[in-house]
Amino acid sequence: MLTLGGHGPRRGAALARLGIIRDGALLVRDGLIAAVGTRGKIEGLPDAAGAEKLDVGGRVVLPGFVDSHTHLIHAASRAEEYELKIEGASYEEIARKSGGILNSVKKLRAATSEALKLRARRALVQFAAYGTTTVEAKSGYGLDVASELKILRLHKELAAEQPLDVVSTFLGAHVVPAEYRGTPTGVKAYIALLTEKLIPEVAQEKLAEFCDVFCDRGAFTREQAKQILEAGKRHGLVPRVHAEQLTRSGATQLAIKLGAASSDHLEQVNSNDIAALGKSQTVATLLPGCDFHLGLAKYAPARKLIDGGAIVALATDYNPGTSPTMSMPMILSLACSALRMTPAEAITAATINAAYALRREKHIGSFGVGKLADLAVFELADYREIPYYFGMNTCWLTMKRGVVVHAANKTTI
Ligand SMILES: [Zn+2]
Repeated sequence: MLTLGGHGPRRGAALARLGIIRDGALLVRDGLIAAVGTRGKIEGLPDAAGAEKLDVGGRVVLPGFVDSHTHLIHAASRAEEYELKIEGASYEEIARKSGGILNSVKKLRAATSEALKLRARRALVQFAAYGTTTVEAKSGYGLDVASELKILRLHKELAAEQPLDVVSTFLGAHVVPAEYRGTPTGVKAYIALLTEKLIPEVAQEKLAEFCDVFCDRGAFTREQAKQILEAGKRHGLVPRVHAEQLTRSGATQLAIKLGAASSDHLEQVNSNDIAALGKSQTVATLLPGCDFHLGLAKYAPARKLIDGGAIVALATDYNPGTSPTMSMPMILSLACSALRMTPAEAITAATINAAYALRREKHIGSFGVGKLADLAVFELADYREIPYYFGMNTCWLTMKRGVVVHAANKTTI
């Protein structure tokens, strides 16, 4: 049993400390962890006498994964663009031909809430099947008042109607929508729509906790990002950013200055950015699924970030254009093989550090008394086999707030 016990997020060498208990057990009451320890100790507790026993038979148990960066709500895949990319078109070339994010915007605006919700629910079933128990979800494929609010209201409904926690982020600043493009006044008008209309409305209806901006070439500049994130802050939305993915925009330094919860992507960070992250509470969230799917050679410098003291987290970036996966174990495989993180570091990055990126480290991401009974059990004898096997699902059971939400299929052959 990997407890990830201890206080707060992990930096440097501490990322490798998993708090392993051999033959461990948990006592769960009302969806919360009532006790953690060896099986002998837990079975001996007076409170354990009447408890229902779930024997996981020597398998690996760890806190449920926290996926701190997804674009959960979208209308359809972009498989047609996948083919174009393989033939050599770059992500930005596709975006210029009104493919990319704007392609998803067109499809989302035309979709009904019911269809969007059904697709998201099916995705959440997959997240659970791969051991994830908390999912952050960003808006950003609506980009007009009605469609952005439609997405954020779906986050709220999904959080209420199914067992996984859905943490809502407003990403109205994903890109400038087609109808505002082409002139500087158009872009200005869209930013005004975000800061003067949408952000106040989102905050008032309590539709999001975080405000995100895609700060990069083809999206928003650092100055524009600052304006939008500061407006979010004034309305109680905690900043986070898409930063240094295609180019180095300086968004990470801005994120740190604004006290952002996380700065995500980071393929193009420089040594000053790494040093600044090492001294800050802003989490460095790495999304290697994106580079893998796009076939890019340059991954984020995970080793330098860890050695520089940054709080490193991992997430799927589940989205239809650049990272169509709900599998955190696959992200761990990429983190180990492509980013040169160790299996222990990758697990920490996908649990307690990711929980910190969502400001929920007191409730999820590790096993401790009073925390949610969120856990994943893997059909493996050694935790290092979680990333070692790739492209297959070894998750045997997932529990959310003490309730089993996934159990591996009983296949007979
Ligand atoms: Zn993203």
